[in-house]
Amino acid sequence: TIQLDTAFLKNAIRTVPDWPQPGVMFRDITPLLQDPKAFRLLVDVFVLRYMDRAIDVVAGIDARGFILGSVVAHQLNVGFVPVRKKGKLPFTTIAEDYELEYGNATVEMHTDAARKGDRVLLIDDLIATGGTMMAAARLLARLGAEVVEAAAIVDLPELGGSKLLRDAGLEIFTVCD
Ligand code: AMP
Repeated sequence: TIQLDTAFLKNAIRTVPDWPQPGVMFRDITPLLQDPKAFRLLVDVFVLRYMDRAIDVVAGIDARGFILGSVVAHQLNVGFVPVRKKGKLPFTTIAEDYELEYGNATVEMHTDAARKGDRVLLIDDLIATGGTMMAAARLLARLGAEVVEAAAIVDLPELGGSKLLRDAGLEIFTVCD
């Protein structure tokens, strides 16, 4: 195993208090993406972890999961598929609703985004309550695909999402908290 300096990545993420609303500590990954060494290290952490896991497709979650997910897919030499917020995908879709702190949300995938038996790497930027990742995993399960791991840059463990996802039987990987 190669040990990489994930403290360096954590330091490249900016916390913005009370955004988009009071009480939220928003983890802003844009400084990490802006720093070429940090962005490369982040991608390398993911590529080294999954290069020998026989991944068939990377599914990235709208919108920051697209940025990391598409680069990782390219480096793993597999395709990329988007998990999108409701109403954005043009072809036939399946949808899953989930709870937000205030209200509801829906994620969608194209029905041909994954096939039965596909080994899928699911990627987002952050796990908070886990609702988004869980809904995305349900979409992939409905297509008969196998989620090899649900991965994110940041876990906010105090919000219980990663535990919820693990209790539901998913393998979880995050780089920092
Ligand atoms: P959740 O469904 O509660 O796990 O929320 C995860 C999704 O919401 C991810 O797509 C994140 O981009 C976004 N998100 C939730 N909380 C935060 C936060 N504190 N900082 C940045 N993004 C967040």
